[in-house]
Amino acid sequence: MTQTPATVRPDRRAELAAGLAQVRARIADACAAAGRDRAEVTLVAVTKTYPAGDVVALAGLGVADVGENRDQEAAPKAAEVAAAGVTPRWHFIGQLQRNKCRSVVRYADVVQSVDSVRLAGALDAAAAAGRDRPLDVLVQVSIDGDPARGGALPDSTDPDRGLGPVAAALAGAGALRLGGLMAVAPLGWEPERAFARLAEVTEQFRRDHPQATVLSAGMSGDLETAIGYGATHVRVGSALLGMRPTLR
Ligand SMILES: *Cc1c(COP(=O)(O)O)cnc(C)c1O
Repeated sequence: MTQTPATVRPDRRAELAAGLAQVRARIADACAAAGRDRAEVTLVAVTKTYPAGDVVALAGLGVADVGENRDQEAAPKAAEVAAAGVTPRWHFIGQLQRNKCRSVVRYADVVQSVDSVRLAGALDAAAAAGRDRPLDVLVQVSIDGDPARGGALPDSTDPDRGLGPVAAALAGAGALRLGGLMAVAPLGWEPERAFARLAEVTEQFRRDHPQATVLSAGMSGDLETAIGYGATHVRVGSALLGMRPTLR
C-alpha cells in the first residue's frame, strides 16, 4: 500500500511560517522582559487535530519539538511523519491511559503527563519492553490541587496521586528518566496566580530532584506569564497552527 506523502500546499506553508515568526517573537520578547536567555526556552508545537504535512512543514521551518495529546491520533501521524524522513521529538501531553503505554513508548521521546504512581509503573514496564533507550518523563502537577482533574497533587501524601510519590516512582524507574514538571493553568485562574503557584511547587520539587530542571508551562494565551515564572518549555497550538475545529 502506498501512502500519500505528507506535504502541504505553499499557502499553508506560508501561513505556518507567519504563525511561527509571531510565536518566536513573543517568546523572545518574554525572555527579554524576564531577563532570561532565549536559548532557555524550547517551543513545543502542539499539532493535535492538524495533519502530518503540517508537522513536516514545521520541521522544515526549524521546529524540532511537537506535542500530541491522543494516542489514536499521534501514533499514525508519527508514522506518516517518519515515512517522510522527518524525525522531530514527539512530546505526549495528554491524559494517558495505562493500556495505551505500549503504543506511546514506541514513538514518544517525552511523556509530559504522568500523574499517578500506577501510570508511572505501567509506563516503565512498557518502556522497558518496547524501547532500547530510556524515555524522558515529566510529572504533570495540579496547580489548584483538585483531585477530580488531571495532575499529581502537591502537598499530598496520597500514595498514588501525591506529587512526592509520583516523582519518587519516576526517579526510581529503570526505563524512565525524570526530567521535571508540566502543568496547565486551571480554568478561571489568572495566569499570574497560576504560574506563581507553580513556581513555588517547582522550587520545592527541585530540592528533592535537582537534576529535573524542565518546567513545561504556558500555551498560546499565557506563554509570556509562564516564561516570566521560569518555563523552559512552552506548548503552543492555536497561535501557531490556527484555531482547532473542535475543542479537545
Ligand atoms: C492543546 C494543548 C496545548 C496547546 O493549547 P493552545 O491554547 O492551542 O496553544 C497545550 N498543552 C496541552 C496539554 C494541550 O492539550
